[in-house]
Amino acid sequence: MSEQVSSGAEDAARERRAKRYARLHRRLDLAGWLLNALLLVLLLAAGWTKELRDVAYAIAPARPLALLVYLGMVGAIFELTGLPLDFYGGYVVEKRFGLSRMTLGGWVKDGLKSLGIGAVLAVGLAELFYWALAAHPATWWLVVAGALILFAVLMAQLAPVLLFPIFFKFRPIENEELVERVRRLAVRSGARVSTVLEWKLGEKTSKANAALTGWGATRRVLLADTLLERHSPEEIETIVAHELAHHVHRDIPLAIIVQSALVVVSLWVVNAALVWATPLLGFRGLADFANLPLVLLVVTGVSLVALPAVNGYSRWRERNADRYALELTRNPQAFISAMRKLAEQNLAESQPSRVIEFLFHGHPSIAKRIAYAEQVQR
Ligand SMILES: [Zn+2]
Repeated sequence: MSEQVSSGAEDAARERRAKRYARLHRRLDLAGWLLNALLLVLLLAAGWTKELRDVAYAIAPARPLALLVYLGMVGAIFELTGLPLDFYGGYVVEKRFGLSRMTLGGWVKDGLKSLGIGAVLAVGLAELFYWALAAHPATWWLVVAGALILFAVLMAQLAPVLLFPIFFKFRPIENEELVERVRRLAVRSGARVSTVLEWKLGEKTSKANAALTGWGATRRVLLADTLLERHSPEEIETIVAHELAHHVHRDIPLAIIVQSALVVVSLWVVNAALVWATPLLGFRGLADFANLPLVLLVVTGVSLVALPAVNGYSRWRERNADRYALELTRNPQAFISAMRKLAEQNLAESQPSRVIEFLFHGHPSIAKRIAYAEQVQR
């Protein structure tokens, strides 16, 4: 595969476009977040959440069923008010920047699938949450945290075989030479990852991606068809080495531990907020599900406060994976050209501002990743 040499002017134009794209998405995220927060505050302040709870009990007197009705009504309000932003950010913007290859029908279909899966998970979690609050008023947050951690461990194993195939097709990589290269690399890393699959991303987007997913028997490296199309075998090797590093460094179990700590802290804060607000807002005890908007506000608040720390942690793990990949492949040149191609293909900001990177980026900037590889090269 030939190296594409782009001029400085072309690079500058691409970077400006990438910055516009990233800024637009950040603004849409912020708008969506503000809209949700506003709705939650309104539900609480105007007393609508209690009215919806009363309507739910009038329809279904048993608590688990009343909760289901309540979730249906609140969920519908959030889905309908969020839809314009979702459509604009998820479909219009991607099309305008020439990244999406989806039809409107395909986008709607994927949206309905996510909605269905999200609804099942949300109902399950809410039923568990209010059951625990009613049955164990003092220790409910430990009960819920324990269940969530178990669920995360289970999903890490099941998601690649249960969830991903709902949205994407996968198939074995046909290029024998590439499979052999990847196998040799896996042996050298001691990762013993036996499954490397082609991830059919190209029917949805022109963006490229690679990932290590699963746990135990479901562990696999996924390489997008869009990546395989445009990258040389040496470049793909450095990308696979980066993914293998995540396995060797045990990043999936570590991520679950970090998330679990965050879940425990969030639920502890939710407990404090409920104890404080129940008499103040006139709820009928901790297990009154009319308090759900408050619970969601607190959880959102804690996640926002933790976001820079979580992203900082992630960038540290990603830097370690890059270092490992460069040590394993000893081909910084291929790493650098792979990074350049990925930036171009994904319209990634190579050099975000320091503040933006600190707050929002889970990976070091492309410019920093390239600078590191250049340092190794010398
Ligand atoms: Zn990574």
